[in-house]
Amino acid sequence: MTPPKSPATCRAVRLESPGRELVDATQEAPAPGPGELLIRVKAAGICHSDAHYRAGIGSTNHPLTLGHEIAGIVESIGAGVATRRAGDRVCVHYLVTCGECRDCRAGREQFCATGQMIGKDRDGGYADLICVPAVNAHPLPDFVPFEQGAILMCSSATALHALRKARVGEGDSVAVFGVGGLGVSAVQLARALGAATVYAVDVNPAKLALAQRHGAVPVDARAGDPVQAIRAATGRRGVDAALELIGFARTMEQAVEVLAPQGRAALAGLTQERMSIAPYRDVLNREAEIIGVSDHLASEIAELMGFVERGQLDLSHAVTRVVPLDAATINGVLDDLEAFRDDVRTVIRP
Ligand SMILES: [Zn+2]
Ligand SMILES: [Zn+2]
Repeated sequence: MTPPKSPATCRAVRLESPGRELVDATQEAPAPGPGELLIRVKAAGICHSDAHYRAGIGSTNHPLTLGHEIAGIVESIGAGVATRRAGDRVCVHYLVTCGECRDCRAGREQFCATGQMIGKDRDGGYADLICVPAVNAHPLPDFVPFEQGAILMCSSATALHALRKARVGEGDSVAVFGVGGLGVSAVQLARALGAATVYAVDVNPAKLALAQRHGAVPVDARAGDPVQAIRAATGRRGVDAALELIGFARTMEQAVEVLAPQGRAALAGLTQERMSIAPYRDVLNREAEIIGVSDHLASEIAELMGFVERGQLDLSHAVTRVVPLDAATINGVLDDLEAFRDDVRTVIRP
């Protein structure tokens, strides 16, 4: 069999230097090295983090192709790859790790000292072709559209990791602060993990309605203190687990204040603010736990596909806009995200 001819060039939307607009580029097509796959990108999610990276917060290697939420079709395989073949539908786990260091072996590979994030430390999916290690490509079932496969790889996976870190299980009551990309998955996954009641806190009526459609009890934070509202609804007890998915000090404090005895607050929103807590009242007296959440694990991606397959995670309303691979359009989407103008989830279809 003659190997398929590799494409000579590919298009990409690149960050040449931090703080500048992304630009269109035509470059030599990447070729898969040993253990790698060349993937034709079918969908790449535009994430709020990408606005931070464009602004120069977090990303270090430039020039860089952004994009860490990727789904596509295997175009060709490098030497030694036996797990995937050309034509496979895949979605990409964005953390490239060594697999051998102490953290990798202990199953906390997001702390791998030589780890790299696709679309932040190495070239990502705002392109029509990308090379990734074969171990990072997970099978994407036929019934999951590429657009949904792409966004599963970031917000849904991190929502699942947050619920796991908070040890949400059968019969628990859960409060989810923020019904954005993570929150809409967190509400559904909490219920799939057996949570008896899920309270969804937000200020946006459309998001509260969406959470309610997925079985959550909406708590409108504009109508009063959400901690008091949830305490009233739980007979003063509070909740077994609270997830903060926004990135505000105040909502992080509320996630701690709302806990029941031995409750767990998992904090996943990004902020540079400092939070303040009352240690005796909120932590010691309740034996409460405050837990940080960083990314997610490769093993959680297969688990996530199981929830989608069983109809427990429905992302059919999550992608609200599809745009072409075009720098001007993508810069506009990032501007909207930066200004919190847009609540929608936009996906690039190259
Ligand atoms: Zn993301
Ligand atoms: Zn490692």
